[in-house]
Amino acid sequence: MIWKGEVLVSNGEGGVYNERMLGGARVWDPYRSKLAALYYVGTGIELTPEMRVLYLGAANGTTVSHLADYTEAVYAVEFAPRPMQDLLEVARRRRTIVPIMADASRPERYAPLVESVDLLYQDVAQPDQAAIAIRNCIFLKAGGNLILMLKTRSVDVRKDPGEVFRDTLDALTAAGLQIKESTWLVPYHNDHAAIVCTKPARAR
Ligand code: SAM
Repeated sequence: MIWKGEVLVSNGEGGVYNERMLGGARVWDPYRSKLAALYYVGTGIELTPEMRVLYLGAANGTTVSHLADYTEAVYAVEFAPRPMQDLLEVARRRRTIVPIMADASRPERYAPLVESVDLLYQDVAQPDQAAIAIRNCIFLKAGGNLILMLKTRSVDVRKDPGEVFRDTLDALTAAGLQIKESTWLVPYHNDHAAIVCTKPARAR
């Protein structure tokens, strides 16, 4: 990852979400991006230029744009028309983003458009977040990583957030994934946790 002092940045064309520029690089704001927050509070996955990424819940491309600055290709899945319009504009200015309008819970629909990836990133804020991630692991290479941004209130607002967190870790482990890191994203994002897993060679 590229740090300028204490500030996480990416190298690319600015002006995506009015982000600050620092010494010619784009400041990756941890309050605007949960992935940036993970790099501030935890370890995350080192992004490299040969990496291919499947991104579920791309929204208007804020985090996608930074990931695309670091990697070879980002397949960006979003199902809502309004953020998709913004995402298309971001993709128009970055050759490494492939926007896909689809429901992330139906990976068979976009399977023909996606190649196998080194990193699966998910930020969909849905009740069945773990199940969606597990279903999409078909695209993840053995040895590849999943980063799941868990919004506990979207899973079950009546349940204790810690319990939702533990249940999600159990579901991912039961699917054969190995948990590398799990952390809450406070102070940047309340009610959100990041879970980083590896897909071992024998997992589905
Ligand atoms: N990841 C974005 C970022 O950091 O810039 C923010 C994502 S926002 C919290 C969640 C997004 O996921 C919304 O744009 C929503 O439309 C999308 N989403 C939710 N469920 C989805 C699904 N099943 N398939 C595709 N997109 C979905």
